[in-house]
Formats: sequence, C-alpha cells, structure tokens
Amino acid sequence: MSQWVIKGLRTGIKSTRYPRTIETAPGMSPGLPVATRMSPDMAQMMVTRCPTSALEPAQAGVDVNLRRCIHCFRCARGTDSPMEWERERDFECAGVTPNSNDHDRRFGPAFSRSIHILVVDAGDCGACLNEVKQLNNPYYNMHRLGFFLTPTPRHADLLLVVGALTEHMRLPLRKAYDAMPTPKRVVAVGACALSGGIFGRSFMCAGGVGDFLPVDVEVPGNPPPPLAILHGLLVAAGRKPPALLYRRAEDSTEAPG
Ligand code: SF4
Repeated sequence: MSQWVIKGLRTGIKSTRYPRTIETAPGMSPGLPVATRMSPDMAQMMVTRCPTSALEPAQAGVDVNLRRCIHCFRCARGTDSPMEWERERDFECAGVTPNSNDHDRRFGPAFSRSIHILVVDAGDCGACLNEVKQLNNPYYNMHRLGFFLTPTPRHADLLLVVGALTEHMRLPLRKAYDAMPTPKRVVAVGACALSGGIFGRSFMCAGGVGDFLPVDVEVPGNPPPPLAILHGLLVAAGRKPPALLYRRAEDSTEAPG
C-alpha cells in the first residue's frame, strides 16, 4: 500500500474522485444507445438489426431496453442509422427492480461505511468479471467507498452476480444466496446476468438471474465499465439514485426522421 502512496506522490497518479466529482476522463465508458424518434419504417429496420431484441418498436420510434443491449453497435453503424449514442454520464445507468421497494429498510445505518461483496461467476465469459476486478485497482479503489470483497457468503452483505446463469451454476448460486446473513442485496452485472444477453433463454441458461433470485439492482452493459459497476454498488447501498433501464423514444428530443 505504501508503495502506491509513494508512487502517487512521485507521479501524480491517483484514484478517481468519483462519485464526489463526475469522471470525465476519455474512454471511461463505451456509451449507450439512446431511444430515438424515427419513422415507423426506420424503426422496424432498427428493430430487425438488433440481435438481442433490445430495440423495441414504440409509438414515436424505438425504445431501448438496456437489459438486453450487448453493445454490438449494429444499430449505430452506417450513415443511414438514426440512432444516437450517449457518452456523457452514460455509466450511471444502474436501475433498481420492483423487488427493491424495501430499499431503505434492507440496508440500515450499520452499512453506511462498509459493505462486503461476494462475487459469483454464474457462467461469465470473463469480460464482466474482469471489469469487476478493476474495482480493486488503485484507480477505482472501491475500498475508499467502503466496498470490500469477501470469499465467503457467511460474511457477505451483497451478492454480485456476473454471467448468463447456466444450468450448472443454479445450485451453487442458490446455496451462496441462502448462506448469506440478512439484510442482503443482489446486484446483477452485465447483459447476460440481466437477460441472458446473446444467449437468451435456452436449455442451458436461464433468461437472467432475476428469474432465479430476487435481484435488487441491475447494471447494464456488455461488459459494464468499472464506474458503471461502482454506480450499481452505490445504488444498492442507497448512496446514489437509480437510473432508468428503459429509454423511451417519447422522451427523446430528436425530430422524427
Ligand atoms: S448496440 Fe445494443 S441496441 Fe444496438 S443493435 Fe447492438 S444490442 Fe441492439
């Protein structure tokens, strides 16, 4: 630890100040598709272009279901694409589920400073897990916000799940959840954990962790960048307001194409 302090003093390298200060460094996040107003024909073309049905036809154009978006950029490519791509504060996109109505009662003042997280890989390709690992590096340094990883469910307050929930991981995940003391929360990270992602619902994977466990907070992305995961943890801890996982064309200011 002292080595990092000395290096920081010598080189000026330091941890991000997020959430105290908004993070503006370039490349922090790949951005997110924005629901856009467009003609019905164009909307239909966009809907068929999306491989995971993340784009849904709406009265004013297309709505974006961020639970399903895998960041393939197919909707954004080409000069004929009317889709917008948001890059400002787009990482603050974690949403709460209806299961989280008792948000304030589940984590009380006892958790205001320190929350222990158990990470379960439920069938991840390695991408989301890698982003979760970055939270422990000196730049994101989640310890400064009171988040710590624990290898045992007995000490965990929060279950963070990545990956499409495969058949073989259902039992271990259920056992981990049941072994955690209450109050406890579940955060699903990445499109696969939220909806099955590109795998969808099949004989070997569920449609999302929410079909199996009471998920409180969902962090979209494929994979979500570390700051998006950090935002999700802050939402789970009640320290940040949630965002909307559906982006509606009606809310867009773009004129119909
Ligand atoms: S970037 Fe997302 S919304 Fe666009 S086509 Fe790919 S999965 Fe669908």
